[in-house]
Amino acid sequence: MRPIRPGDRGPAVTEIRTILTGLELLAAAGPQTDEFDLDTERAVRAFQQSRGLSVDGRVGAETWRALDAARWRLGARTLYHAVPEPLTGEDVRSLQERLLEMGYDVGRADAIYGVRTSRAVAQFQREVGLTPDGSCGPHTMNALRRIGRKVVGGRPQWLRESDAIRQSGPALVGKTVVIDPGHGGTDPGMVVPDGSLRWTEADLVHDLASRLEGRLAASGVRVQLTRGPSPDSCLPDADRALLANSLGADVFISLHLDGHANPDAEGVATYHYGTDNGVTSATGERLAGLVQREIVARTGLRDCRTHAKTWELLRLTRMPAVRVEVGYLTSPTDRAHLVDPRFRDRVVEAIVAAVQRMYYPIERDVPTGSLDVSELRAVVTAGTVVD
Ligand SMILES: [Zn+2]
Repeated sequence: MRPIRPGDRGPAVTEIRTILTGLELLAAAGPQTDEFDLDTERAVRAFQQSRGLSVDGRVGAETWRALDAARWRLGARTLYHAVPEPLTGEDVRSLQERLLEMGYDVGRADAIYGVRTSRAVAQFQREVGLTPDGSCGPHTMNALRRIGRKVVGGRPQWLRESDAIRQSGPALVGKTVVIDPGHGGTDPGMVVPDGSLRWTEADLVHDLASRLEGRLAASGVRVQLTRGPSPDSCLPDADRALLANSLGADVFISLHLDGHANPDAEGVATYHYGTDNGVTSATGERLAGLVQREIVARTGLRDCRTHAKTWELLRLTRMPAVRVEVGYLTSPTDRAHLVDPRFRDRVVEAIVAAVQRMYYPIERDVPTGSLDVSELRAVVTAGTVVD
């Protein structure tokens, strides 16, 4: 097909202009014309730029496909996992973003309705009592509209299961949080020499844990650390879990840093208890999702997502438990952040926000990154929730 280019006229140009107007790249009140004029060319270039296409101001096959995909609005057609050519479009992207915000694993919002998106839709359907066929038609759209608006940061299933948590009230006052700085004693964890300095995971996560202890205690939380700054020996993970159990902790947060031979490996990941075949600690998974999303939103660390693991630490704890790998000590980028105390404070604020959101009733939950944790202290004094 010959590209449609500046100077061309006809119905195809009208169609292109209609799509670009829908994307607000052309003024809706602009001249109605079937000519590929200068404004059209500008809009096409802007569109190509936004989609990572080569910017030539013409509509060839590739740009046409992207424009065609961009015209779909969520709910205008039924979405499903088509093989071998998957459905793509802005509606798919909107759906993926909605599911991600609710805590479903669709991978990246890439606008492609692949098997992972289909699986996430099926999971959503199961949890709201619809037939889990993995396709998004009118019923699923209705459920999304009904629930999606209210629920931010949690699946319906988890929210049912976290009834107990909500019944304990939104205030953090009186809750017990056990913070577990990883390693310690004879085990320094990751060690990275940096000039004359030597950064160790055990020291950095203990600093994080102490800062977190301070912030949570200021919000009225009872806090217990599993170890001091320089213990004689390293407490095994199973003992850390049992300690949290014996204290009747409401939440358990284990802090680690990651490391890899490849210095390009970077980012934050959060782990909760769960098996490969889908058995999962609902509240643990919810807490992991909140911690992960708050940290990514507030620090800009690369999002290495949440993962289910059967580690002893997570298996033996009898409360929502997560292990956070707050960046790679072996990554020069992450390390530069991690050694900065102000950055560590942002990580701590993110975790405090996540813990607080665990206890918000769904209808009062707030979007990721929006909770001002400095207000929590005022909340404690007033004995009520922030609106
Ligand atoms: Zn570690």
